[in-house]
Amino acid sequence: MSLKKYLLAPGPVPVPPNVLNAMAAPMIHHRSPDFVELFAEVKEGLKYLYQTSQPVMILAATGTGGMESAVTNFLSPGDKAIYVNGGKFGERWGKICAAYGVQTVEVKVEWGRSVDPAAVKAALDANPDAKAVYVQASETSTGVAHDIRAIGELTRNLAAITVVDAITAMGVVNVPMDEWGLDVVVSGSQKGYMLPPGLAFVGVSEKAWRLNATAKCPHFYFDLAKERKNLETNQTVFTPAVSLIVGLREVLKMVRQETLQGVFERHDRLAHATREGLKASGLRLYPVGTPSTAVTAVMAPEGMDGQEIYKTLRTKYGVTAAGGQDQLKGTVFRIAQLGYADTFDTITAVAAVEMAITTLGGKVNLGAGVKRAQELLLAK
Ligand SMILES: *Cc1c(COP(=O)(O)O)cnc(C)c1O
Repeated sequence: MSLKKYLLAPGPVPVPPNVLNAMAAPMIHHRSPDFVELFAEVKEGLKYLYQTSQPVMILAATGTGGMESAVTNFLSPGDKAIYVNGGKFGERWGKICAAYGVQTVEVKVEWGRSVDPAAVKAALDANPDAKAVYVQASETSTGVAHDIRAIGELTRNLAAITVVDAITAMGVVNVPMDEWGLDVVVSGSQKGYMLPPGLAFVGVSEKAWRLNATAKCPHFYFDLAKERKNLETNQTVFTPAVSLIVGLREVLKMVRQETLQGVFERHDRLAHATREGLKASGLRLYPVGTPSTAVTAVMAPEGMDGQEIYKTLRTKYGVTAAGGQDQLKGTVFRIAQLGYADTFDTITAVAAVEMAITTLGGKVNLGAGVKRAQELLLAK
């Protein structure tokens, strides 16, 4: 048993102490001037993070609530939508569409691979009546990134919108919503935002708002048009998650201070060192496609159970990572370098993986991965 706990999972992630402190302040009322001032500030901060001139709606929900709103507010029952399914979260787009009677065209991607934009183009060509393309920027279940820039480009001059689940991409990698022509971009508080779970964010382009005007899928709580209207007066439709929004203000200040470029470079540096470090430990990475910058999916060594590694990390070393999901259960474990993460989180991750595998009697080059990660993370 270890005294200290380390949260290195792909959400929730650790919350910085200054943010925790801010959230402990006495409650303010959401129809008060204090809240209006707070909301005005976070509204601008979110535009900076999303790199958009469009308002970004804030919902009291987890990321999946944001995903659901990105279906029901833009489509009608019987509409056709294309979705990229390369993992657990891609699959979720299909399930949400099905729940609302939206016809789906699946672009199936072998787990571990990135979608080939040509496959999305082929689906669009074959289905000119498709109203939307749903995709993940980072498929957390497989640790793989999809080329959302190329997909945004495909629909730029079509009627169809591109809807991106950027839940493990926003605040991690570059997702310039306006520049890349992304129409709906969803993110969530417990990932790159380094906040507790409970907020979903949805950015909407002008093109998507036009589709919103004709959308007939039932929705009541997640009504983005009503939220946009309320946003103009710095209000939400229902009681917002006030404490989380107080925390959000602190987080957005931190992002501005570090700059977007700084945030992206930090994650890139940590992800690179994690991957190269674990390879030097003698491990194999799972992705065949572009690896996600937020989360590293690692193959359990031959003959070892990935769930045992994940469990040993937690019970012996106090490190909470993540196991594999569905078909990857047992073969893969995942380590995040996401949100409030820096140099020594990566060193800890690589060291802990080497130690957990050694503890289980597995073969690993103890210390070699740490050394490689140290070399890559040496301050310039
Ligand atoms: C975490 C996550 C979600 C949302 O999950 P919630 O549990 O609803 O917050 C959706 N998509 C991706 C890619 C994620 O990583």
